[in-house]
Amino acid sequence: MGIENTPVSSIPKIVAASRASFLTHRTQSLEFRKEQLRALLRMISENQDDLSGAIKSDLGRPKDFEVLGCAKTCEFFINNLEALSENKKAHGLKDGDECYVRYSPLGTVLIMGTWNFPISLVLQPLAGAIAAGNVCIVKPSEVAEASANVLTRLLTKYMDPNVVTVINGAVEETTVLLQQRFDHIFYTGSTDVGRIVMAAAAKNLTPVTLELGGKCPAIITENTNLVDAAQKIAVWKSSNCGQICLTVDYVLCPKHLQEKLIQTVIATWKHSFGADPKASNAYPKIINKRQFDRLEKLLEAVKKQNTVVHGGRTDATRLFIEPTIVTGVSLSDEIMKGEIFGPILPIVPCENIDQAINIINQQEHPLGLYLFSSDKEHSERLLKETRSGAVVVNDIAVHYGNPSLPFGGVGNSGMGSYHGKYSIETFSHARAVFIRPQAHL
Ligand code: NAD
Repeated sequence: MGIENTPVSSIPKIVAASRASFLTHRTQSLEFRKEQLRALLRMISENQDDLSGAIKSDLGRPKDFEVLGCAKTCEFFINNLEALSENKKAHGLKDGDECYVRYSPLGTVLIMGTWNFPISLVLQPLAGAIAAGNVCIVKPSEVAEASANVLTRLLTKYMDPNVVTVINGAVEETTVLLQQRFDHIFYTGSTDVGRIVMAAAAKNLTPVTLELGGKCPAIITENTNLVDAAQKIAVWKSSNCGQICLTVDYVLCPKHLQEKLIQTVIATWKHSFGADPKASNAYPKIINKRQFDRLEKLLEAVKKQNTVVHGGRTDATRLFIEPTIVTGVSLSDEIMKGEIFGPILPIVPCENIDQAINIINQQEHPLGLYLFSSDKEHSERLLKETRSGAVVVNDIAVHYGNPSLPFGGVGNSGMGSYHGKYSIETFSHARAVFIRPQAHL
């Protein structure tokens, strides 16, 4: 199929035109922003099949839990824009002073998406940037070709071209794009490319939001409903073939609970995909050969260092990696060195909350940290003694769908956050306004 890359020579002109467009001040009006959000919502509603079809083509994901979320986000901003954007009153220093914080749009924002949720990781930040009154340049991931193509066609058709422009390409185009001056860069993708983005942004002192990689642990304790925990872990490890930044990367579990955990995970996978996931239409695929090769190499290392208790089969012709469970894992093993981003579940022996905290603190800060426990002291200790983008107790990744909470990482899992009012804060400058009554002559 292929993507039509934006000619490199045209990129500086496109960015200059966006910057000039911001200076027309049209996006300052809340009504104008709402019009654009309504256009985005219309685009999503009228083209659900095309958008879902592109995701299916890129990732083999049958159920669409991505597109509807984007529509909900547009609705949220349309319904709450006045309240989210209103000035925040502040104290004056003398009688008569009028002081407030005004949320001003930043200007021209670059939004760079990634391939694992190729539609929502472009449209979710885009909705927030539009709501905050910015002009946006969008760069979908070239890895998810069908999604990049449909986004380009639809955004060009539905959105005001002076407000949203799409640029397509791979490293060459992105490198030139990052040399341009933006007022903010919002990047979702790997930690390594996050460093490249931040270094490029530093040349122009452009602020960045970086939504980066995961390696999120799930902690199983004695005081938990083990079946519920195992079912949730199984679902998240196999959804999108484990290619989810917020999925459980590895499980910390006491030895005597491991067998029940393993059997329940296997039973849940069988329930979802039958006895042979390779024959199941419900089981997605690895995005491309590059990611497949990476995971296959990881599996080879796992087979040498650990015990594969379930799964382990691969098929390059179908980009198929079987949902796999691995035991006998220690922190120095290959599987624990980086984010897995695939359907392989390592179970690390961990007897209590002290050990869990110790293991977590030996790794980079995760994007999500999942605790399965009914003991309040466990969650209090995790909150106090570890760091992560989020903590979720007795579930996995559910905070992503709650617009009342900020979504983002810390340390190697990212910087900054978005969703709901946090998107408005991210894509605005909190401008101090201090109006003093004029002195009498
Ligand atoms: P990717 O290859 O699609 O890259 C992401 C973006 O970076 C794309 O727009 C791509 O064009 C650009 N890019 C790639 N290489 C570049 C380079 N050398 N120079 C400049 N730009 C470049 O995706 P990926 O990096 O494989 O992303 C997967 C990662 O994304 C995983 O680590 C995952 O955890 C993370 N992720 C994070 C979140 C989050 O919200 N925190 C969400 C989804 C995925």
